[in-house]
Amino acid sequence: MTTSTPANTPAAAPEAAPETAKTSNFLRQIIESDLDKGTYASRQWGGTPGDAAHHAKGQPDPAKIRTRFPPEPNGYLHIGHAKSICINFGLARDYGGVCHLRFDDTNPEKEDTEYVNSIIDAVKWLGFDWNGSPNAAPYQASDYFDFMYRAAEYLVEAGHAYVDEQTVEQMRANRGDFGKPGVDSPFRARTPAENLKRFREMRDGEHEDGSMVLRAKIDMASPNINMRDPAIYRIRRATHHNTGDTWCIYPMYTYAHPIEDALEQITHSLCTLEFEDQRPFYDWLLERLTEGGLLGNPPPRQYEFSRLNLTYVITSKRKLAQLVYDHKVSGWDDPRMPTIVGLRRRGYTPESLQVFADRIGVTKSDSWIDYSTLEGCLREDLELKAFRGMAVLNPVKLVLTNWDEVMGAGHLEPCTLPSLPHPPEGVESPERHFTIGKEVWIEREDFEEVPPKGYKRLFPGNKVRLKGGYVIECTGCTKDADGKITEVLATVVPDTKSGTPGADSVKVKAAITWVGVADGVNAEVRMYDRLFLEAQPDAGGKDFIEGLNPSSLKTVTAIVEPSLANAMPDDKFQFERHGYFVADRLDHQPGKPVFNLAVGLKDSWGK
Ligand code: ATP
Ligand code: MG
Repeated sequence: MTTSTPANTPAAAPEAAPETAKTSNFLRQIIESDLDKGTYASRQWGGTPGDAAHHAKGQPDPAKIRTRFPPEPNGYLHIGHAKSICINFGLARDYGGVCHLRFDDTNPEKEDTEYVNSIIDAVKWLGFDWNGSPNAAPYQASDYFDFMYRAAEYLVEAGHAYVDEQTVEQMRANRGDFGKPGVDSPFRARTPAENLKRFREMRDGEHEDGSMVLRAKIDMASPNINMRDPAIYRIRRATHHNTGDTWCIYPMYTYAHPIEDALEQITHSLCTLEFEDQRPFYDWLLERLTEGGLLGNPPPRQYEFSRLNLTYVITSKRKLAQLVYDHKVSGWDDPRMPTIVGLRRRGYTPESLQVFADRIGVTKSDSWIDYSTLEGCLREDLELKAFRGMAVLNPVKLVLTNWDEVMGAGHLEPCTLPSLPHPPEGVESPERHFTIGKEVWIEREDFEEVPPKGYKRLFPGNKVRLKGGYVIECTGCTKDADGKITEVLATVVPDTKSGTPGADSVKVKAAITWVGVADGVNAEVRMYDRLFLEAQPDAGGKDFIEGLNPSSLKTVTAIVEPSLANAMPDDKFQFERHGYFVADRLDHQPGKPVFNLAVGLKDSWGK
């Protein structure tokens, strides 16, 4: 049976929130106060975006609040967008509202289905659905072009807008600056009828690109330069991916955005601080259009919060694009990229990013978040979830010289360890199976011919446990002609197998990780480090390319235990003692493993 959810009913009751009590913040306070006062209680919802008349025919809005995430489909989303997504969708979820996904595609440009699809995937992957139903299509700002044009004609007729034929240079000069008021355009005094005629000519393609613009008529002396008669429509002969060649005039972003919000009955329009100066125009425009009866009342309100700045990372689509097009990284989804696709391929989970967004909170002051905060969120998430496994990243062979004699020639002894050493309550950890024989791989650094002070691992005469296997006693090593160690030699102490009654009969100071030569599998392991050497790679207009870390990727051939070799793409593991790794989404195949380092076991950033 298929159930269809009526479009635009509020998201179902929030699923078990990922963590307990939410910390309050200024946005939550605003929303709670609006809910208390019933600021938006009288709103109607027409089932789809639309003007005042459309919504008046609808029903009381079932969504208590409406928020929106309005990306421009001109690149892949990054960690800063993840913050915005978690805020907007999270608030709608927490307050019985709906969050809209809207493509802000008012700027005519070549079709960007690649970006559109990647944005849809990213929002879904983060765990959200939009527009009130799991299968709803995202909204598109370009669907509102007709209304935007009608609203512009209304402004012209009401004397709130005029066609300006000054050149770009004249307009710039007459705008004034912070210390100097602007000067009225000679075209400002035209009658509404003249303006309407001109504006229609603009629409009908009778004038050259750039020869004139439609401007709001506000105040050329305003201390806020954004209020000095901002341009609201320009002529631009460009084919739009949605509307084709229907239009040769396009609305400016500052004009389009408030209208998009209002048509969608957004209540709280949340954006980053750089839009603070635009708020007076946002309010001015919506006041004009609501008093004219074109848009529903009360209009949306804009609130600004600080954007995410993360150390050792760049959060600008344009600069990230440069890294891709200059082949500094393998693509938008390179695991070193702070894009959502990059983070995902690196092993980040949606839960870790949601916790990160909650932890950094929402404020109005710009600050830098330390990269280690993000890593800490992933580590905490994987600590509980990721299966353990042993992998030897820098292998040297260990030969148990008495194995054939005490265990039997060619004998392979089966061993098991739990996949989760500390399973959550009520969960039984699966077991992993592997074998030990005469030869095993160990880390090169786990043997010292002459041990430094305090060294507890293998050196001649010392005993250690092969984790999950037996106690062994080191007897020496063999070397090649250059003095490089080729094999470490040891003897197995019989009857000390982990999990058997004799396991504790011999005390050792260390257990080391290992993988059997008989069942270990070669794996490509990509050891990623920070992409930039500088904490603020693009601060102060610096050339961020120069700050790239030349050794942000080192690839090693490791040997992994069978449970890791048979992983599925995207599976995450803790390689015991090394860190958290993910089977690469694109290149990994069971039996032919490729792993990415997601995050180390301990914070290594401050050091
Ligand atoms: P970029 O500067 O990377 O191109 P943008 O702001 O142009 O980003 P949009 O697609 O316009 O990208 O952004 C969609 C939403 O994401 C906007 O509401 C914007 O404010 C928000 N956003 C973008 N970058 C950040 C950030 N670093 N922190 C928080 N929110 C962000
Ligand atoms: Mg933008």
